[in-house]
Amino acid sequence: MSFANSIIMWYQLHKRDLPWRNTRNPYEIWLSEIILQQTRVEQGMPYYYRFLENYPDIFHLAKAPLQDVLKLWQGLGYYSRARNLHETAIQIVNRYNGHFPDHYEALITLKGIGAYTAAAIASLAFNQSCPVIDGNVIRFISRYLSLSAPTNSPALKEQIHSFLRQEIDPSAPGIFNQALMEIGSLVCKPRNPECTQCPVAAGCSAFRNNTREQFPVKIPREKVKNRYFTYLILRNAGNETLLRKRTATDIWKGLYDFPLIETSTPPDPGSKEFPEILHAFLNTHTLHIRSIHGPYLHLLSHQKIHCIGVQIDCTFEQSFPEKDTFTRIPFEKIHEYPVSRLVEKILTDL
Ligand code: SF4
Repeated sequence: MSFANSIIMWYQLHKRDLPWRNTRNPYEIWLSEIILQQTRVEQGMPYYYRFLENYPDIFHLAKAPLQDVLKLWQGLGYYSRARNLHETAIQIVNRYNGHFPDHYEALITLKGIGAYTAAAIASLAFNQSCPVIDGNVIRFISRYLSLSAPTNSPALKEQIHSFLRQEIDPSAPGIFNQALMEIGSLVCKPRNPECTQCPVAAGCSAFRNNTREQFPVKIPREKVKNRYFTYLILRNAGNETLLRKRTATDIWKGLYDFPLIETSTPPDPGSKEFPEILHAFLNTHTLHIRSIHGPYLHLLSHQKIHCIGVQIDCTFEQSFPEKDTFTRIPFEKIHEYPVSRLVEKILTDL
């Protein structure tokens, strides 16, 4: 039996019943693919339903204010996905009258749609023979063919692409792609692959040579950077606080946060210098520390954020770094603004 037939037959018997698998609607497929990037299915599922409920089609999404889209995305991380989702929706409405382009070459020109997502939409919604290559497929095919090029290298992707182009079933490219990803996810798992359940074990090079754990070949990870944040949650007598929208090309662009002191070593709220650091930053001695929260550890892909939150009573008369980028808002309205998961944790603890 061919590679394609073997995996498709397995898929039809064992696939998980996921909502985006029962549709050919490119909007719904696109939405699911963007949500599921770097996100587990169980975590992404409620967001998928929530987005479809709030924005049932591309016109609703394009019309929505970006701030609302970011708010709905809150908690999923990698917020550039939400910003790109919104920008692409506007682009499709303006440039294509709300119709998704039906081929790979046009899809890949859209913001936030890379080779993987373009291939997924082209094959699942429009029956184009474009193989998908995600992390699961890389692991599965690297083992199947014992490919020694390192993960994420262009050479490895090209070898996998060329193999899949030959094997893809042109009469069912969408199902072929789903089957590839499902086997990569459920059978050819990172640890302890279930080779006895694998429909293509007979042809698998790594299985035959008992070298499964050697593939895919890993490249050394980028060093993780430690950052130390002290968030200042300022409150005045009118129960207002100061919030700003992050615009720098740093993390969390477009989300809101509080005045921030970033240091090269962990903040120590018990030290005698700590109040002096706050006085110097806020440029005043007339302040009162109401409470201190944390420490919090927040992990991003290449950064570890160590953070504390300090709630401070003060007036907003004094100037401090970047003060003009902050806006006064009533404290009880904070929940209307999209914030990072870290700020959300601090607010929960206040
Ligand atoms: Fe992966 Fe094992 Fe199947 Fe080979 S036989 S593709 S290692 S699950």
